[in-house]
Amino acid sequence: MPELPEMETYRTLLTEKMAGKTITKVEINREKSVNTTVDFFIHHVTGSRVDFISRRAKHLLFHLDNNYVLLLHLMLGGWMYWGTPADRPSRNFQVILSFGEYQLYFIGLRLGYLHLIPSAEVEERFAALGPEPLSPTFTAQALMERFKGKRGKLKMKLVDQSWISGIGNCYSDEICFHAGLLPDKAIQSLTNTQMEQLSRSIPTVLQEAIRWGGYMEYPLFKEDRLTGGYNDQCKVYDREGEPCFRCSQFIQKEEISSRKTFFCTHCQE
Ligand SMILES: [Zn+2]
Repeated sequence: MPELPEMETYRTLLTEKMAGKTITKVEINREKSVNTTVDFFIHHVTGSRVDFISRRAKHLLFHLDNNYVLLLHLMLGGWMYWGTPADRPSRNFQVILSFGEYQLYFIGLRLGYLHLIPSAEVEERFAALGPEPLSPTFTAQALMERFKGKRGKLKMKLVDQSWISGIGNCYSDEICFHAGLLPDKAIQSLTNTQMEQLSRSIPTVLQEAIRWGGYMEYPLFKEDRLTGGYNDQCKVYDREGEPCFRCSQFIQKEEISSRKTFFCTHCQE
């Protein structure tokens, strides 16, 4: 499932492609991917201009010039492609937004969705989300205060969207490795030093992943050299049985609350 760095990569690349452009046509092949009637969606989106694109947690928001927002969550298996009918992948498209000769294709939107909501209702949709880990207010102090009196396993806290938003299965493991902490470590046992390290590891890992273009498997467009660059940069995620880059001991895999979890028992405590 795409996490914060994947959605941030999409945001940057799509902003270059479509900000300021008008949506000339809308095709919906799967009604369940949208939240209104097909007619309402097409009527309100066709002819509107995408002013800018923002991101909150794992969502992208396409801000239209008519006080509506297209709110995207790709969930598991969703991805996008920007191109023309000549170079698009041979897949099923749940939604297609046209911008003249170019199209934005939404693929694999089964659990994922593209919702049309009034701009004024956006904040309400995000009310249950925890803070953004790249926000300047997300400091060691803030992290310690959020941990105070809480119990549970570190990885489960990192993937809890109401506690901190945007982190999923891959980056929670990468963050734990960077911080030298085992994913099943009880948060109530973390020392102040470990919490300070964790508060540095969270933005460091996410920023590095953004620089590498995240881990999405498919390019966003034909000449896309950025998307997916982080796939080869993972230190532990999906590397079971491979040697740790730091100590050469084999990376291990376990399930924590039915989530696949990868770690190095030598580098993490
Ligand atoms: Zn190691």
